[in-house]
Amino acid sequence: MNWITKFIKPKIKSLFEKKSSKTEENLWTTCGCKNLIYKEDLESNQKVCPKCGVHHKLTCRERFKTFFDNKQFELIETPLPKDDPLNFEDKKKYTDRLKAARKLTGQDDAVLIAKGKVQNNNVVVGAQDFRFIGGSFGAASGEAFIAGAQHAIDNNIPYIFFSCSGGQRMHESSIALMQMSRTALAVHELKKKNVPFIVVITDPTTGGVSASWASLGDFIFAEPKSVYAFAGRRVIQDTVRETLPENFQSAEYCKEHGAIDLIVERQYLNSSIGTLLNVLLKKAEAQAKQEPNVTVDKSLQAVS
Ligand SMILES: [Zn+2]
Repeated sequence: MNWITKFIKPKIKSLFEKKSSKTEENLWTTCGCKNLIYKEDLESNQKVCPKCGVHHKLTCRERFKTFFDNKQFELIETPLPKDDPLNFEDKKKYTDRLKAARKLTGQDDAVLIAKGKVQNNNVVVGAQDFRFIGGSFGAASGEAFIAGAQHAIDNNIPYIFFSCSGGQRMHESSIALMQMSRTALAVHELKKKNVPFIVVITDPTTGGVSASWASLGDFIFAEPKSVYAFAGRRVIQDTVRETLPENFQSAEYCKEHGAIDLIVERQYLNSSIGTLLNVLLKKAEAQAKQEPNVTVDKSLQAVS
């Protein structure tokens, strides 16, 4: 016993101490530009590389903190449908993938919805976490999207969504594909009720997400250099057998070709979208004030 406490235990302790000193290395991170960046510098710059300006991916909560006024927001609870309706299994069970993704992200699904203010305008905001099975869009994401739209309609406030996804979740097959039409119908309802719907494309936005709600915004913003595509570049190149431009499927290329309205750096998204909302909402207010006059005019016409 003495031998264990005197020799083995300190030995084990020293091993752990050596390991913890190694965590100093974790203070540094790398970027696509191959520069070594102090992690704190990257965090304080809203995860935009201070050397090359690349916008690194954000988690949903980080996104809400960078976007809402004074980092203040409140999460909206959304329905969670039954897990794994098709008993799907590839190299791993889908349920195991879900378990791992939930542990990693601390959320039930890739989508989170929150409410708060942007330049003092009440808004509902949705975001996707790419770490959750590639931000893929399944039944739970669809439910969350629709719950967000419903909240926007009920309170007559704008709906803003940050896309970041590889597309529909293959583990849910046709159920995931159905979410494309469900979300498109939800956007249609927003438009019928004159509720502004704004999409912000972040890197990457591809597959079924770019082919449904992400392309249906009244305004489509994008963060610089985000990939915005349906099929991958290699698939297209092999099909059309032509060399594609270097910036093909980048936000800048899509803006040149009319698929994106505005490219805005992360630090200016709150102010630019806030300014746009001020214009849109004041116009809507003015219209609402004018409407009673219109009905009066019509009644007068009917009398005469
Ligand atoms: Zn960089």
